[in-house]
Formats: sequence, C-alpha cells, structure tokens
Amino acid sequence: MERFDLLVIGGGAAGMAASLAAEKRGQRVLLAEREARLGGILNQCLHSGFGGGLTGPAYARQIMDRVAASDVYVQTGTDVLRIFPDRTALLSSRTGLERVGFEKCILASGCRERSIYSLPVAGSRPAGVFTAGTAQKLMNLGGYDIGDDVVILGSGDVGQIMARQLAQAGKRVAAIIEQRDRLGGLPRNRRDCVEAYRIPVLLRCTVDEILGTSRVRGVMVRHLSTGRRWELSCGALLTALGLIPDRALCEELLKDGALPDWLRLCGNCDYVHDMVDSVVREAVQTAI
Ligand SMILES: Cc1cc2nc3c(=O)[nH]c(=O)nc-3n(C[C@H](O)[C@H](O)[C@H](O)COP(=O)(O)OP(=O)(O)OC[C@H]3O[C@@H](n4cnc5c(N)ncnc54)[C@H](O)[C@@H]3O)c2cc1C
Repeated sequence: MERFDLLVIGGGAAGMAASLAAEKRGQRVLLAEREARLGGILNQCLHSGFGGGLTGPAYARQIMDRVAASDVYVQTGTDVLRIFPDRTALLSSRTGLERVGFEKCILASGCRERSIYSLPVAGSRPAGVFTAGTAQKLMNLGGYDIGDDVVILGSGDVGQIMARQLAQAGKRVAAIIEQRDRLGGLPRNRRDCVEAYRIPVLLRCTVDEILGTSRVRGVMVRHLSTGRRWELSCGALLTALGLIPDRALCEELLKDGALPDWLRLCGNCDYVHDMVDSVVREAVQTAI
C-alpha cells in the first residue's frame, strides 16, 4: 500500500492551496479529486470577481499551474469513498479500488446545495427544477439550455449571479423570490446582478407549490405576511437555498463531536466562504 505524509481530498481552491503549502514544506502529498480536472466550483463560475477581477477558471488556472509545477501527486477522476481510523483511505477511479495510507488528512470537499425538497412544497417533481449550482454547471460546462422564464427561489450570491447570467443570455427572469424582507448576498452582487438588470424581486414571499407534471409550468407564490397566494408561470425553477459544508466523509470518525487530531477541514467544507481568497488563506494555514 502506498503511503503519503498528507492526503488532501478535493481539488478545488482549498485542496490545491493546502497541497502546495504542505509540499513546499517537503511533505509527500496526494491530492485526490473526483472530477476529471482540478478547480472545483471555480470551473463553472464564468463571471469575473475572483482575486480582484479574474473569472473562476482563470483564477483556478493560476493555482493549477503551480500544482502542475510542484511535486504534489495529483489523482483526478478519483473519488475518496471512505476514510478509516487506521489512517488509510479507500479511493475509487477508472482503474478500480485502491487503499492508500497517510499520516495526516485534509478534507477539502466543498459544500452541497440545499434542494427544494428540503422545503414543504406541494406538487409533483417535474423536469425544469434545478439547484442554482447545477444550472450553472449545466449551462457553463455542458452548454445546455435550462429553459426560459426562470423563477429563482432564494436571493443569496449564487441566486443573484445566476439571475445576471440568465439576463445576459437573453432569458427572462420572472422573479427572484426571497422569504426575508431584503435581498441576501454581497452588496456588489445586489448592485451588479439584480439592480443593473432590473430583475423583479418578491420579498417576504416563498414558493409553496410547483405546477406542471412532466415539465414545470409555474409556481404558486405565497406572501408570508398576508398569506395571499398567486400563480407565477415559468419554464424553469432555480433554487438558491443555501450551501451546506459536505463533511459526509468524516462523520464516522467523530468522537464526542471532535475530529481525530490527524484530520482537518478546510475551505467550504469547514464553513461556507464568500470569497475565494479567504479559502486559499485558510487552506495554507491548515496545511502548515
Ligand atoms: C456561484 C458561486 C459564485 C462565487 N463567486 C465568487 C466571486 O465572485 N468571488 C470570490 O472570491 N469567490 C466567489 N465564490 C466563492 C469561492 O469560489 C468558493 O468559496 C471556493 O472556490 C470554494 O473552494 P473549495 O475548494 O472549498 O470548494 P470546491 O471548489 O467546491 O471544491 C471541492 C472539491 O472537492 C471535490 N470532492 C468532494 N468530495 C470528494 C471526494 N469524496 N473525493 C474526491 N473529491 C471530492 C469536488 O469535486 C470539488 O472539486 C463563489 C462561489 C459560488 C458557489
């Protein structure tokens, strides 16, 4: 069984930065990434705003070039299935299953999106309902058309950025619907994504029913103060309901709520970061 000083799980900004910092200190590092290429969420974020004006892929490229020039062992297309208490991990790739050993492990597996079905929503489950991140991935990496007349439920940064992208692509955004009495997200996104494109906003509202059987044809909107309900027709529903750190791999290893001292979290797997620069800073600190 091959052994490493450090196993890093997840090749987004956090995993790459942590790997580089450890390698610089002379450690033998294995960086395992599930997808075919490094970069994580950055690869699908085509807007500029990363590290002071770069697009996500351009920002990722800078770190990827440093990884390529380093002695970090990179395995893409490799899913880490399990971490064991004896400091080994089970990896799955096209070549099959493999067990590796390590002294320390950094989990940099990013976060998951909360889905519409975490809410009490009536109706069937027709096509055309996506999380915002999935829609972004389908459009930007797959070149798919997700539909027109889009309703976005949730007004955080991800929802607002998708509203702008859809408007720029010539799609009508029927509304951003937000349960609070103000938009979420960074002020710059409110200005550049919502106000600049005059996206309609429904505050103190939610969606409590999805209409349509094979394909979504609308949603029932409910005003949370008055209780009034009305139908809003749409061809797609995007949900931007928040991100949850993805720590599934370490749940079995918790003892009295604490992780073993050889396992650390970083990046969005630790907590959800708004800005990638803070992910990188934290990752470097975690690795040294
Ligand atoms: C829509 C959106 C817009 C944003 N816009 C900006 C912006 O304008 N400016 C800015 O500075 N920041 C922005 N951010 C924030 C920043 O991009 C992220 O916080 C940062 O890129 C997260 O990096 P990460 O490495 O923690 O996670 P991720 O990039 O999600 O990387 C996690 C990686 O782990 C891999 N992985 C997960 N589980 C496993 C496993 N079991 N085995 C192997 N691999 C695994 C995943 O495939 C993924 O590649 C934005 C974020 C989002 C979502």
